[in-house]
Amino acid sequence: MPTVLRRLTLWLGAVALAVSTALAGPTAAQAAAPAWPLLSNGSTGPNVTSAQYLLRHRGYSITVDGQYGTGTTSTVKTFQSANGLSADGVIGAQTWGKLVVTLSAGANNDAVRALQTSLNKHGYGLAVDGAWGPATTSAVQSFQSRNGLAVDGIAGPTTWQYLIGGSGSSGGTGNYRLIIGKSVLPRSAYTSRHHDYPAIDLPVVTGTTAYAITSGTIGYAGGSCGLGIGITGDDGAYYLYCHLSSRSVASGSRVGAGQVLGYTGATGNVTGPHLHLEVRVNGANRCPQNMLLALYDGTAVPAPSSLPATGCFY
Ligand SMILES: [Zn+2]
Repeated sequence: MPTVLRRLTLWLGAVALAVSTALAGPTAAQAAAPAWPLLSNGSTGPNVTSAQYLLRHRGYSITVDGQYGTGTTSTVKTFQSANGLSADGVIGAQTWGKLVVTLSAGANNDAVRALQTSLNKHGYGLAVDGAWGPATTSAVQSFQSRNGLAVDGIAGPTTWQYLIGGSGSSGGTGNYRLIIGKSVLPRSAYTSRHHDYPAIDLPVVTGTTAYAITSGTIGYAGGSCGLGIGITGDDGAYYLYCHLSSRSVASGSRVGAGQVLGYTGATGNVTGPHLHLEVRVNGANRCPQNMLLALYDGTAVPAPSSLPATGCFY
């Protein structure tokens, strides 16, 4: 769906993001640190990739593929034994605590690749090259600022915990969750109008985690939608996500609100990476903006059938 207006919209989104990042200071109230996630045989995604890079950094020979299989399990057991932990092959809080390493500008190793992978999960779009340069420094500072942490530009244990544990899309009420992490985009991104029909385009970099807006059943979409995922919601509405770079759920499977669906990208008919979302009620498109804003604000989510069908496109 390429238009000049789309480019303008995405550009304005990027400007708004930069401004909001500049305004968000270290005075933001610090919430409780997110829990370290449990990873075990069968887990997939960027947290697995980061764990594999950290194991490599610790000297273990392991394939980095984001898939927690038998090879990763046995390497984790070896690592746990060597570090006085019970060797259960599951990465929980204690194992994470032994895996992460404090890093700062100038570092060049696999632990930096883990850091860059984790920052990309939160929407930063860094090259995963293992070299900590200015782009990695500003991403760390921005992430710390957005999460109310001390902005020292150093990846210490607390910053790691927020990066690895902060995978949940924090905004949400009832059986609904925000479709990307709340810290990824400013509120204004959820007010933007679509270029031709009721929908929304969110300007996010490739690799940003996409979450299920509500519980339901997964179906795959394609064509101009690229790698697309539809959720036939338990609320009776249909939610369509387009242009993903990868899908983490199988067609026909059930998902819960806030479950990871996949990672954003630029597949299908696009001029650049973004996440396209549609909400349909009885096959007709509704404007998703009020629903997303309620999720961002943590207020009551309007019923999909109450969403307007006009006023959100041009
Ligand atoms: Zn679109």
